[in-house]
Amino acid sequence: MGYDLERFVGYVNEGLLCCVCRDVLERPLQGPCEHAFCSSCISSWLVYHRSCPEDRLPLEVGSLKPLYRYMRNDLTRLQIRCVNAARGCEVVCSLENLNAHEDECEFAFVSCSNTGCGHMLPSLDRSQHNCVAELRVEVEMLRAEMMCKVEEKESQLKNEVEELKGQLSCLMSDMRALLGAERLRRQELAEAEVEKRELLELLKEMQPSR
Ligand SMILES: [Zn+2]
Ligand SMILES: [Zn+2]
Ligand SMILES: [Zn+2]
Ligand SMILES: [Zn+2]
Repeated sequence: MGYDLERFVGYVNEGLLCCVCRDVLERPLQGPCEHAFCSSCISSWLVYHRSCPEDRLPLEVGSLKPLYRYMRNDLTRLQIRCVNAARGCEVVCSLENLNAHEDECEFAFVSCSNTGCGHMLPSLDRSQHNCVAELRVEVEMLRAEMMCKVEEKESQLKNEVEELKGQLSCLMSDMRALLGAERLRRQELAEAEVEKRELLELLKEMQPSR
């Protein structure tokens, strides 16, 4: 991947852009067709293709060459903002000196060298950094987060219990209705039985005695 075009100060010749990522060439190479690419961009392109991404002419890793010297010179003279500009670094330097600056940039993030801390912090703030205080804050944050989660779970469980209760009371009333119907049916059966017996008695009485 190339350098983001937006980081550059002043005009950038289109010839210094990568034909793959369209950003400014990083570790440039060129094909026999004279198209230029970042080495990482063209090597990942050539994993799946055998042609130049710009004009589709045959291209393979073995035919890639260093960029023309005059273009390399143009490239190294481009003025670029430090990668830590968003964090406050105002340095603008030539592409040639960029790595040297960024290695010692005060706004770069470095990890705290104290064992067990590993906190990422701007090297500028390193002197004011207090591992223990930092860790305490982190622990507090984690604790707060956990409490939130627990509360969330609790209210979720409460809702589930309420829902189950609702379902249960529906079932109970269904059950009551069924039982009521059953009782009625049994009562009717018993009544029918009595009626039947009475009818049989009546029949017996009506039979002429022999
Ligand atoms: Zn590129
Ligand atoms: Zn080409
Ligand atoms: Zn910087
Ligand atoms: Zn620390």
